[in-house]
Amino acid sequence: MNLKSNEPFWLLKNGLIATYPSLKSDENCDVLIIGGGITGSLIAHQMVKDGYKTILIDKRELCNGSTSATTSMLQYEIDVPLYKLIEKIGEKGAVASYKACSEAIDTIETIVKEIHSNAGFKRKKSLYFASKKKDIEWLKKEYETRKNAGFEVKWLNADQILEKFGFENTYGGIVSEQGASIDAFQFAHELVIHNVKKGLKVFDKTEMVDVEYHKGFNIAKIDSGFKIRAKKIIYCIGYESKTLLKENFVNLKSTYAVVSEVDKDKFKSITSTLVWNTDDPYLYMRTTDDGRLLIGGADEDFYGAEKRDAILNKKEKEILKNLKKIKPDYHFYPDFVWAGTFGETKDGLPYIGEHSKFKNSYFVLGFGGNGITFSVVGMEMASLFMKNKKHLLSRYFKFGR
Ligand SMILES: Cc1cc2nc3c(=O)[nH]c(=O)nc-3n(C[C@H](O)[C@H](O)[C@H](O)COP(=O)(O)OP(=O)(O)OC[C@H]3O[C@@H](n4cnc5c(N)ncnc54)[C@H](O)[C@@H]3O)c2cc1C
Repeated sequence: MNLKSNEPFWLLKNGLIATYPSLKSDENCDVLIIGGGITGSLIAHQMVKDGYKTILIDKRELCNGSTSATTSMLQYEIDVPLYKLIEKIGEKGAVASYKACSEAIDTIETIVKEIHSNAGFKRKKSLYFASKKKDIEWLKKEYETRKNAGFEVKWLNADQILEKFGFENTYGGIVSEQGASIDAFQFAHELVIHNVKKGLKVFDKTEMVDVEYHKGFNIAKIDSGFKIRAKKIIYCIGYESKTLLKENFVNLKSTYAVVSEVDKDKFKSITSTLVWNTDDPYLYMRTTDDGRLLIGGADEDFYGAEKRDAILNKKEKEILKNLKKIKPDYHFYPDFVWAGTFGETKDGLPYIGEHSKFKNSYFVLGFGGNGITFSVVGMEMASLFMKNKKHLLSRYFKFGR
């Protein structure tokens, strides 16, 4: 069977996990979270835990933004290699950013246990391989830098990669101990369901269209005409933040994903490993809980949703051609193909912090290939913001840096 769709796999697999009412009266709260994707659900979890009266709104159904399209590889490795990030922002900030993403994976595991999640969290190693001979030199430098910074890494040569993973035509690579994967769509829903039982109020199909700023509180105006009075607003609006914030802080990209039919035996060698390479744009892949191979890549600049989706077939071929380079005899049977939008920043780091034009407000915008781990880091940062305190990473993730 070769059933294809341009709906993300996670949406089809999970269906409609939960729906919520739209806003039908004025409301009042300590914290209003705008955006109910993986970021908003994690921040809501933190706010409820910290004891705030919290409201979460989304203009769509929950988790129907990037969270439905993600490949959900949980990596401590940022799109910008550690040695390069050190050159850009200095050793302290670079190592702290990598470490925070590593700890974020442990935090997700803790939350998974706490809420009895069934979203398939699985600890995995990660293989980052050189796809061209010329990449070996800098990748080895990256390996040494990470080792010196205390990360658990091993170098494998091309023969070892072939033997262990069955990938041909590689030039060696880094194997990291720390990594995981999860169904982020299901996990985000589970988080919201868990916190609704603890008092979180949720409204979907509820769009914030404007905000009035007052001393000590804000009034969010909703498309239906109702208002939400909130002491603080936390914006978790993902890549649509580009329409709200006028400065040029993120380059939007289209990225593509293909998932195979179920074949548990075929993908055995990488069920416990996340894989990505040094191509630009890079290829990334992992297996799913139900025994499929999920591959992403073929990124290009975003010129609107229609253009992005019109080239799905072309992009599917491009991804599978890149897979053929390392698995020449391998027949991949695609089941679902889709496109999503994500953003690249100049240093691979997220934007998490206050913005001079938005009073009593905080932004948690996890960008790049590890948007999800950045959102987890955002939980602690947002918690400190509510207490008027700064996080060690605030200066590295701030607007205008
Ligand atoms: C194909 C693909 C693969 C990816 N792979 C990975 C990966 O392997 N690992 C990883 O860590 N990250 C990955 N990412 C990135 C990751 O998916 C994102 O970082 C993450 O999903 C962002 O979640 P979010 O909640 O911030 O944004 P979203 O899920 O987009 O949620 C934002 C929400 O805000 C709502 N919203 C916006 N404006 C308003 C408004 N005015 N009023 C009310 N609601 C509003 C939207 O409706 C939306 O639901 C990938 C992304 C894509 C597209």
